[in-house]
Amino acid sequence: MTVPLIAGDGLPLKLTRVMAEKPPPRGPVLLVHGAGNRGATFRPPHRTTLVDALLAEGWDVWLFDWRASKEVGLVGWTLDQAAEFDHPAAVAKVLELTGADDVKIIAHCVGSASVALSAASGRLPGVSTIIGNAFTLHPVVPPVSTAKLRGLVPIVSTLTRDVSPAWGDEPDGLLAQLIRLVVRATHRECHNDVCRMASFIFGGGRSSLWNHENLDEATHDWLRAEFGPVPLTFFRQMAKAAARGHFGSVYTGPPDARFVLLTGEHNRCFLPESQHRTFAHLERRQPGRHELHVFPGYGHLDVFIGKNAHTDTFPTILAELEK
Ligand SMILES: [Zn+2]
Repeated sequence: MTVPLIAGDGLPLKLTRVMAEKPPPRGPVLLVHGAGNRGATFRPPHRTTLVDALLAEGWDVWLFDWRASKEVGLVGWTLDQAAEFDHPAAVAKVLELTGADDVKIIAHCVGSASVALSAASGRLPGVSTIIGNAFTLHPVVPPVSTAKLRGLVPIVSTLTRDVSPAWGDEPDGLLAQLIRLVVRATHRECHNDVCRMASFIFGGGRSSLWNHENLDEATHDWLRAEFGPVPLTFFRQMAKAAARGHFGSVYTGPPDARFVLLTGEHNRCFLPESQHRTFAHLERRQPGRHELHVFPGYGHLDVFIGKNAHTDTFPTILAELEK
């Protein structure tokens, strides 16, 4: 069931409630995607996705297409806008429609960072648990990403308003074709041009977003449709945060919610040091309250879409929801 949602600044967004066979006995869980993905990215072509695992445990599953979704298609956004306008609206709507007094959130990458910014500023009073994969308030990126953020982002910003992994299959203009040529010459890890382009845009490494051995062929191919444009407004914010070592506004105080930080040990988008730093930051303020889990053999998005995630990572996520 799709529910239209209006963000605090008037932007139309989308919530999708995944209908189970029986009314779910447990409370709502909101799934928040990463930059340029969408709510459906949590549903790769597997027998047991995270959505299936949550439904099997009786949770009421909601997919949230926030302003970074390829389906919203907004040109120009920042994490602060999402923190101020999107996540509070989604949480309020889920609370209203379910009658629950608590929402749990599972989020990916900058989806979780923006949720955390929202929580840290006191805008998510109905949220008790935030489980974030590649979640960090203190981004540490590979040296090659630092070079791209410092050197390329200012130049590319003068040429285009967004960049997209989808240019791998459908290069949209001369700049897109040029970037694809560079990516084809430097990323030889596979023959999927969207996969290679995503590695180039979001990280440093071949590949930066998943270990290929964790993806089955169908998922590797399905990924082509899961990436849309990401605006330079976001990359400029990332460049500042990476140079400064943190997203500034998080230092104000401890959040209300309990945080569970997840990452793959081979994450080449945000290095695992990012999660260790944020965990240490949270631990100093509220010792023993939060958790950090590092998954051996995993990278970034494969924590959610890996072919063996249902046995390797989902049990940890489900157990943390119980706490
Ligand atoms: Zn690939």
